[in-house]
Amino acid sequence: MGIVPEDRYFELFEQMIDCVTDFEHFSRERFVDVLCRLSELFRISKGVTEFYTNEMKEMKGEGEIMCDYDNGEDGVPIIQLRVVSKSHAVIKGTIYRPENEFPLSEKEMDRLVMIERSLLSFISRNRLADAIETLGFHDDFGYRNRRSFMRHIELLAGRGEIGGRFTAAMINLLHFTIINQDIGRQNSDKVMRRFYEALNEAAGPDGDVSRLGGDNFLVLFRNENTDRFLETINGIPICYDDDADKRVMVAARAGIYRIPEDFRYEAPGDIMDKLMRSYQAAKQSVDTTVLYYDEMLGRRKEQDMRIQLLFGPALKNREFRIYYQPKVNVETGEIVGAEALCRWFHEGKMISPADFIPVLEQTTDVCALDFYVLESVCADIRRWLDSGWEPVRVSVNLSRKHLINVDLLSDIFSIIDRNDIPHEYIEIELTETTTDVEFRVLKNVVSGLQAQGICTSVDDFGMGYSSLNLIREIPWNVLKIDRCFLPADDESEESVTSLMYRHVVAMALDMGLECITEGVETAKQIEILRGNHCLYAQGFIFDKPLPKEEFEELLSTHRYDISKLLK
Ligand code: C2E
Ligand code: MG
Ligand code: MG
Repeated sequence: MGIVPEDRYFELFEQMIDCVTDFEHFSRERFVDVLCRLSELFRISKGVTEFYTNEMKEMKGEGEIMCDYDNGEDGVPIIQLRVVSKSHAVIKGTIYRPENEFPLSEKEMDRLVMIERSLLSFISRNRLADAIETLGFHDDFGYRNRRSFMRHIELLAGRGEIGGRFTAAMINLLHFTIINQDIGRQNSDKVMRRFYEALNEAAGPDGDVSRLGGDNFLVLFRNENTDRFLETINGIPICYDDDADKRVMVAARAGIYRIPEDFRYEAPGDIMDKLMRSYQAAKQSVDTTVLYYDEMLGRRKEQDMRIQLLFGPALKNREFRIYYQPKVNVETGEIVGAEALCRWFHEGKMISPADFIPVLEQTTDVCALDFYVLESVCADIRRWLDSGWEPVRVSVNLSRKHLINVDLLSDIFSIIDRNDIPHEYIEIELTETTTDVEFRVLKNVVSGLQAQGICTSVDDFGMGYSSLNLIREIPWNVLKIDRCFLPADDESEESVTSLMYRHVVAMALDMGLECITEGVETAKQIEILRGNHCLYAQGFIFDKPLPKEEFEELLSTHRYDISKLLK
């Protein structure tokens, strides 16, 4: 029988208890060390013969720590312990007594029971950690969540291992709504689960896949696994009925960020922000479903630079043309005005303002364009007047960029007066401002225009964060209600949009503002305008922005047949 000094036992037991109860500072190495020494004391094990740990998996709650005791040839285990924990791995230990040894004394048995108890306490603590892990780092369906993804990134970044080695992706399953409809909810849940597993496999042992919600996922993988990842998202068959071998192809759209060598991790948003932007660009792209962050920036920059480079010559070559969209009185059908909107004709193609105005707004190029539009509008009105036609008031959009121009008012007047245009025929559309300084300048500009009898309107009211101050403190003439405020045909009269629309119109009228609604497309919407006493409309139901010649033709009749439109 092994003779083991009592104090050695106690010393080791105390260490063991210390080790497993100090949960916060739990050290696996120390735990294994104490366990080994205990088993040596009993001479019932040749010790830990294998110990391995996969820290990366363990971090995700999947790893294992194995302490395999060599059982020998005829070893009979007397206590077998398995410590299972998602967050702190698996510790498996077998303490055994070879048959030819003396039976353990009662005291020794007691000691072993104490080891067992210590281990059990360790297990229960780990179970608690598991629960926290499950709740905090998984969603309701058991997928790892965004927090788990961030933790993974933080850990890698903390060790300086992420830059130059890993790639992150934000993906969205393609046509998953259709798959859902086709094969039913239960089957498509299974499909999503299996695709997630396939992604996990493609991401490799130290990669990560988390669900963002819906059919959106975040993936992190080593650069070497890029091909496997791309193969997976380019489309793989997923079986949802094993008996009948029914399959469906699943593919995904992705924004990808290859984390650069010199990447400095500062905030968790660093990577997410880039993923989001490249994913959005991939979503908008017509020619690809997978877009790299660098490529996206490159594409955008290249396109922006091309526009900026082409702009100067285009303005000189008169590639910009003015289109007029009528503004109509919804009671009488009379054309009461028009908005001048510009179009760019380049190499036989028409570029719409949404594609070039934001780029020109990055510099002050947009101001040159706006003055060109104002100049052209004035020239047209002059022509109409000279031919004896009764013109309508034409509005011109001025970008907010003009507000930094201290000579703005005199620049505007000099164009209008040079063409000898009576001021009542010009209206200036301005959008809402964001800063206090801009607000003060805007107020001065609007008052200055007004003093000279030029009409001003708030464009796109309701689109940004419209402040009521904007309309209370600035003496506008017209409020142009953006089409986002206009209820759609299938919306009820009690819907929030209907309610807001009603109140915005009522408020504008109460304040003595002329009120026009943009984006009117249907007969029902004309009825809504009439029902709410909004007298003026602009929208496709009457006409799209028209080339000058077509608009002039329309001006000769001056009227739409409302009753016909309402039919
Ligand atoms: P905006 O000033 O709000 O102009 C109205 C936009 O709504 C126009 O788009 C017009 O075509 C569109 N629209 C009119 N009726 C309907 C409708 O019934 N349904 C729909 N879905 N859309 C309708 P457009 O011409 O593409 O202009 C877009 C924006 O570009 C303009 O919005 C304006 O902010 C800017 N923009 C256009 N021309 C100029 C310009 O000369 N100078 C400046 N600074 N901005 C301009
Ligand atoms: Mg406008
Ligand atoms: Mg507008």
